[in-house]
Amino acid sequence: MAKSIISDMDGVIYRGKQLIPGAKTFVQRLLESQTPFLFLTNNAEQTPLDLKLKLASLGIEGLSEDNFITAAMATAMFLKNQNQKQHATAYVVGGGGLINELYNVGFSISESNPDYVVVAKSSTFGYEQLKKAVRLIDQGAKFIGTNPDMIDPVEGGLEPAAGTILAAISAATGKKPYIVGKPNSLMMMLAARKLGAHPEDCVMIGDRMDTDIVGGMEAGMKTVLVLSGVTTPEIMTQFPYKPDFVHDDVGGIDLAAL
Ligand SMILES: [Mg+2]
Repeated sequence: MAKSIISDMDGVIYRGKQLIPGAKTFVQRLLESQTPFLFLTNNAEQTPLDLKLKLASLGIEGLSEDNFITAAMATAMFLKNQNQKQHATAYVVGGGGLINELYNVGFSISESNPDYVVVAKSSTFGYEQLKKAVRLIDQGAKFIGTNPDMIDPVEGGLEPAAGTILAAISAATGKKPYIVGKPNSLMMMLAARKLGAHPEDCVMIGDRMDTDIVGGMEAGMKTVLVLSGVTTPEIMTQFPYKPDFVHDDVGGIDLAAL
């Protein structure tokens, strides 16, 4: 049976604004063979449309918004599954992308006694929001994070990311968030569910051992490490687990052999 493909993007398809060799032909082969696939990212700021446009600007055409799952989408799917009640509410630290995903699953946004405080990277985060989040969690709101990344490498240097904001709220409340994004294998399971596939029929492709490969392995998927991102063969061997396949880049992946 043909496998379904779940692939990371940064370090796999592109690095910053540069396409990684082999990525374009890899996506063409996925499309031509009608292999079910999803691009998965811990980024909770960009919408599937943003991501589709970004890949198109790099020369990868033919994708639809359905080909993407973000940590914001996965967080909304998780909260919907957890919450059968009619009018669940959340206070959100994060951008419009996350708020939209929560609306899509029937949540309202509220600062008054919400069920959840949901936190993502926010470029406008400030003291008033920190105080609000801390008080609401102290009053009993459940503490949720979209992804644990502490910093994002961007053009011109590093940027504090969701994990840094989560750490500030944790320090003040003494509570730890439940974090949905990679390396939580829940994110991989939600991706498999979106594809309508069982995890054992999915292959997770990524460039990081401590997120993509461990998350895929723990979800019961086959894993492919590509060396086009942050991991070298030396780094790979330092982990207590290993990927099923290793390639220099996605261009070397033989879909029929997975
Ligand atoms: Mg990556």
